[in-house]
Amino acid sequence: MRIYIHTDLEGISGVDCIEMMARDHARHQEALENLMHDLNAAVDGAFAGGATHVTVLDSHGGGGNFLLEMLDPRAENDTKPNGRWWGIMDESYQGTLFIGAHAMAGTMNGFLDHTQSSLSWYSYSVNGRRMGELAQWGIVAGHFGIPMLMVSGDERACVEAHEFFQPLETAVVKRGLGRNRAELVDLAKARSRIREAAQRAMALVGKAKPFTPTKPMEIRLEVTRADYADGAQDREGVERIDARTLRKVTSCGLDLFP
Ligand SMILES: [Zn+2]
Repeated sequence: MRIYIHTDLEGISGVDCIEMMARDHARHQEALENLMHDLNAAVDGAFAGGATHVTVLDSHGGGGNFLLEMLDPRAENDTKPNGRWWGIMDESYQGTLFIGAHAMAGTMNGFLDHTQSSLSWYSYSVNGRRMGELAQWGIVAGHFGIPMLMVSGDERACVEAHEFFQPLETAVVKRGLGRNRAELVDLAKARSRIREAAQRAMALVGKAKPFTPTKPMEIRLEVTRADYADGAQDREGVERIDARTLRKVTSCGLDLFP
């Protein structure tokens, strides 16, 4: 059983303020260490649940967050040789986990809620349904026939995940207090939640279905300011609806960004 683990940083245990996300902040290293602990808990849980191969992806900000000397040596680190978001993920995997998730842009009390760009993306939808990065990753994985099996992150991210993926295991590691602060679950407890949810998630292989919206998919992206949409209509297949709204119709789950 082959499992692919995607990671982000906002929804990692122990990360309780926006300042920790800045690479030059005194507590940034702590965030990266916690990322590795959460990830290793998921890797360990996956193997305990019957996985035979686990691949992991460093996805926050395009990568560069993993402290590789801390990574569980049983895990394969995807170095994204193709430069694409999904790296080497392909049809050979039976499930995907999302560790460190945050809720979609516009979520009340979602810790560091956003969708792709906090600066320029206001609202994103597929076939009229608003979505964030969790669902986008679900569609990418679904393109390869892979179901989402487990999510860790703040409470709102886990609630959102349950709205898109059933059945699903989740591990809540914090609760947003407004957008930029969070109340943490005790670190040891957070990691045991992740390990246990990952282990239980292995039993969903064969039961959980890939997330595949009806094709063709109508994708709409509303940006925060018109200049973020300027020129976008020159891109293949992208239509500009109004000053801030872009539209694209596609049947490919890897072609999600207007
Ligand atoms: Zn991130």
